Amino acid sequence: MNRQNDTRDEADTAVFGSEQMLTPAPTEYIPQHKTLPEIAYQMVKDETYPQTQPRLNLATFVTTYMDDYATRLMNEAINVNYIDETEYPRVAVMCGRCINIIANMWNTPEKSKWKCGALGIGSSEACMLGGVAAWLRWRAKRKAQGKPYDKPNMVISAAYQVVWEKFAQLWQIEMRQVPISLEKPTLDAKAAIAMCDENTICVVPIAGVTWTGLNDDVEALDREIDAYNKKTGYDIPIHVDAASGGFILPFLKPELKWDFRLKWVYSISTSGHKYGLVYPGLGWVVWRGKEYLPKEMSFSVNYLGANITQVGLNFSRPAAQVLGQYYNFIRFGFDGYREIQQSSMDVAQYCHRNIGEMKCFTNYADHLENPLFIWYMNPEYDKTAKWTLYDLQATLQQSGWMVPAYTLPKNMEDVVVMRIVARQGMSRDMADMLLTDIRNAVDAFEKLQYPTTSRIAYEKREKQYGKVFTH
Ligand SMILES: *Cc1c(COP(=O)(O)O)cnc(C)c1O
Repeated sequence: MNRQNDTRDEADTAVFGSEQMLTPAPTEYIPQHKTLPEIAYQMVKDETYPQTQPRLNLATFVTTYMDDYATRLMNEAINVNYIDETEYPRVAVMCGRCINIIANMWNTPEKSKWKCGALGIGSSEACMLGGVAAWLRWRAKRKAQGKPYDKPNMVISAAYQVVWEKFAQLWQIEMRQVPISLEKPTLDAKAAIAMCDENTICVVPIAGVTWTGLNDDVEALDREIDAYNKKTGYDIPIHVDAASGGFILPFLKPELKWDFRLKWVYSISTSGHKYGLVYPGLGWVVWRGKEYLPKEMSFSVNYLGANITQVGLNFSRPAAQVLGQYYNFIRFGFDGYREIQQSSMDVAQYCHRNIGEMKCFTNYADHLENPLFIWYMNPEYDKTAKWTLYDLQATLQQSGWMVPAYTLPKNMEDVVVMRIVARQGMSRDMADMLLTDIRNAVDAFEKLQYPTTSRIAYEKREKQYGKVFTH
């Protein structure tokens, strides 16, 4: 058979008149024959067609809107591998400038021209690097003192993001968790100190807690650690996981001390692809100074006209995000970032107020610290409700919204909450559409004669374990 003619015949066929569009998509083996690019494109594109619009996904913290120029810049750099610094030295310089800008935004005391930091594929890699550095510093010191170094631990609130569980598992670090409660909804500094000992590699407060949207009080923690270190002679440092807060606090709460202005903050990580406003995946970690980055984690390149320190778990990685981040710094400037973050905050506050006014809901916190918040079902209303927040999630999903319902971490597992993360790209008008959809859904739930399946399951569980959640 002449494949060439065959292909030409197919080229005359409309995409949806082709045989391939009537054939099941490959799931196990690579297809034997070629497919025309238009048809292959359509098949792949259509796989994602029934998904929600990314901007209606209010579950994610990650950027779902960038302007046309940013998108163009990033698309144009899609074929650039960041690691090939010899070929693309300007990308490495640009990365160094981004690290400088971020380090200064976080009030680094470092005086040298190039600040000490690294890029990651997200906060996860950045957290890992910060954690590993703390572990290696602790180990080196223990070795030098002739003391055992086989039982490292770290202290964090139970509302940690899953990356810390990975860090603890992969590097075999014991994770000591400070529980949260309605009375103490963020990391309790005194309770954290009570869990520290000579084997503690670091304490990790969170700026922008994933579960609640609140901030751990880093200043209070720093004070407690300072007193504890003085008393014991240890030098337990702080790594701030500022995945969201790292790009919110400098703009909206510049007076709040949570960063390198505090004595024991040795490293900070953030997600460039969250409120850094870049498409995924991009993370950053910055150390207080070069002396806090263990030598064995870094290698230097000197062919850039300056010494740039390189650290990372992955070797090859996309460079486009670095261009996107640098573009944002130039395009928005400090003022632009502040305005965008304030807009997200305003939209979040508007939703928070409206949700709080609905009799079926209670907000978790009275005020917002980041452009996101959680709420739960009003405990009084809950007694007679025939539905749950999971039903609301499912109903909203039918109009394309992703508003997740979930249970809080350890010690508060009985609290089912719902969360909205407002980001660039969420307008007041969109908030009104969402609120209308929520009100309509609740109206419909209130006309139910019988409880939903999710409600029945919820009450069964409650009967079995007792109602732990009382307000
Ligand atoms: C999102 C998040 C992470 C993980 O960040 P990625 O950028 O998704 O890898 C870590 N910690 C906190 C507090 C987060 O919110």
